[in-house]
Parts: sequence; C-alpha cells; structure tokens
Amino acid sequence: MPQPEQPNSRRAARLAAEASATAPAHRATADRAVASRRRFAFALGRRGVVAVVAVLAVGLIALVVALARPGGESTLPDGTAPAAANPTDAVTLPGGSGAAAGATALPVPAQSGPAAASCDSSAVTSALASGSDADVIAAFGGGAAFRATVAAGAAPCIDLGDPHRVWIVVDKRRPLNPVDFEPAEVVAPANIQRTVDGRLQPPAAEALTALVAAAADEGAGAIGLNSAYRSYASQTRTYNGYVNSLGRAEADRQSARPGYSEHQTGLATDVAACDGGCGAIESFGGTRQGAWTAANAWRFGFIIRYEDGYTAVTGYQAEPWHLRYVGVELAKAYHEGGFHTLEDFFGLPAAPDY
Ligand SMILES: [Zn+2]
Repeated sequence: MPQPEQPNSRRAARLAAEASATAPAHRATADRAVASRRRFAFALGRRGVVAVVAVLAVGLIALVVALARPGGESTLPDGTAPAAANPTDAVTLPGGSGAAAGATALPVPAQSGPAAASCDSSAVTSALASGSDADVIAAFGGGAAFRATVAAGAAPCIDLGDPHRVWIVVDKRRPLNPVDFEPAEVVAPANIQRTVDGRLQPPAAEALTALVAAAADEGAGAIGLNSAYRSYASQTRTYNGYVNSLGRAEADRQSARPGYSEHQTGLATDVAACDGGCGAIESFGGTRQGAWTAANAWRFGFIIRYEDGYTAVTGYQAEPWHLRYVGVELAKAYHEGGFHTLEDFFGLPAAPDY
C-alpha cells in the first residue's frame, strides 16, 4: 500500500536528529567523561578515583538512557516523534493481512494529502448513496486504497457480498444473496462474435467490446464470446446435467452449484479464440489471444478469476477463459499489486470447497 512520503526537509531533519541521538553522540560524551575523570583523578588521588568513577558511571548510564528515550528527540522541528513515524515501514507489505497486522497503531491509511478515506467520510457516504461504484472507489482514494482499507477490515460500509456492486465476491464459501439473484439489466456486448449466447451488465459488456477491439488492433487476433450471464435456473439445469452424467463429486469439479456461480452476477464471461471459427474455451489459454488477455485484460477492468496454481484458494482449476469484470480501478490495483485471487485481494479466506 503506497504511503505518502514525508516531505524531504522533515525527513532529513528526523534522520539528522536520529543520527545525533545515537552512537556518535554516545561516543563523544564518553570521551569527554574519560577526560574529566583523568583530571579529577590527578587532583583527588587514588581514593577519590573510586568514588568519582562510580559517580561518573551512574551519570553516564543516566545520560545514555535519556538520549535513547523517544522523548529525547522531541526537538524535531515539527515535533514528530519517530516512534510514531516508524510504523509506516510495517505497512509496506504487499498483502492485506500483513499490512493489517503491522498497522495496529494506524487506523489504516490515515495519512494527510489525497490518501484513503474511511466509511466515516462524507465523500464515501454520498458516493455509496449515489450508487456509483466508481465514485465510491474514488472516494476511498482509488483502487489500491479501497482494496487495502477493505482487506484490513476497516471498511464496514463495503459489503463484499452485495451482488449489486462491482466488488461482489462469489466463491464456494460465498453464495449469492439472495441465492436466485438476478442483475437489473444484462445486454449483449456489441461487435463481438458469439459461439453460444452471452449478455453482461452494461459496463461489463462495454468493457468486453473494448477488450476485443484492442486485441484485434494490437495483433492478438479475434476473441469471441462463449457464455456470460447465467440465471439461477439455467445454472441449476447445467449443474444437474453434470450430476446426472458424472456424479456429484465430478460435477462439483466442473461446474458451480446454482447460486455459487460468478456467471449469475452478470459480471463474468467465458471467451474463446476465433481464428476462422471460434475454438473451445478450454483451448483459449494456449492461444495468442489467451496470452494477450492474461497480460492486458486488467486495462479493460477484467481479471482472470481462476489462475493456474490457485485452486486451493479459488476452488477451481485454471480457467484462462473465464474473465471477471471488477472495473478498471480495481483491476489495475489487482494487476499492479501482483494479486492472483480475488480472495487474497480482499483479505478473504480461501474457498477450496463448499
Ligand atoms: Zn466461466
């Protein structure tokens, strides 16, 4: 989580104060003490030496303790105590959980400047009331700040289970609520080949159209839409079909149970490479379209929801064809933060099974 840097002058002043309060200062003080001791020893004779050395030793210890105390540095120009500034270092961990643990002294990014807000902020409150997910994320200070605040458990006004919001997280431990949720509107993305059928919530549909156009413009070839929104009823039919032919265990490996599918949000889509005809979604990962999408989907607000190597967290085998729309701000934070699962991104528990 990026933290605003301290102004250079303040930082320099703090460093200078720290430097003068540590080893060199102690050494200089000790050198002077030794010189004093020699002068006193000459004047007082051997019996006096013992007493003077004892007194000086006690004095030295008191001096060292006084210099080592944080309060000893209260001469900084702005009165900033380094003890309060240093926890910033503990908040630079990439993940959410570590940052939360290290930030106990800070109520999350409570820095000055254009940093993150909290649920108490009037900007956040009014953005939530407006219904604009993008405005809410902006009010928190952008995608990375929004994520960090939510992952730290410091955003009680953000419900990761609200299917009306772009930050909804659906997995095998987080069914849709209500379980038969239907998005208010789903539309067919324009200018895209379809192998079956597919409608998405309007922002996701527009984003997919832009992604497909960019892939073609940038030489990655044609991408087609295989599947997108699936209702609770259609997911029930699909899942039951798998159960009837393969048994429940195998059905669970290949298909989400009704109410647990991201497709029901209207924010997820399966895509295929369409060189000539469109291929199967299962072969998308090995195509140039698949490689381009893995590298560039975030630019259009999508993440690859089920990556190779993260089945223990997501509960699904790799599905390089399954794109989940989270909006550009969150997708950018996901990409730049090096995240691979939405669970990690928001500090949620792994969901390997139901
Ligand atoms: Zn899918």
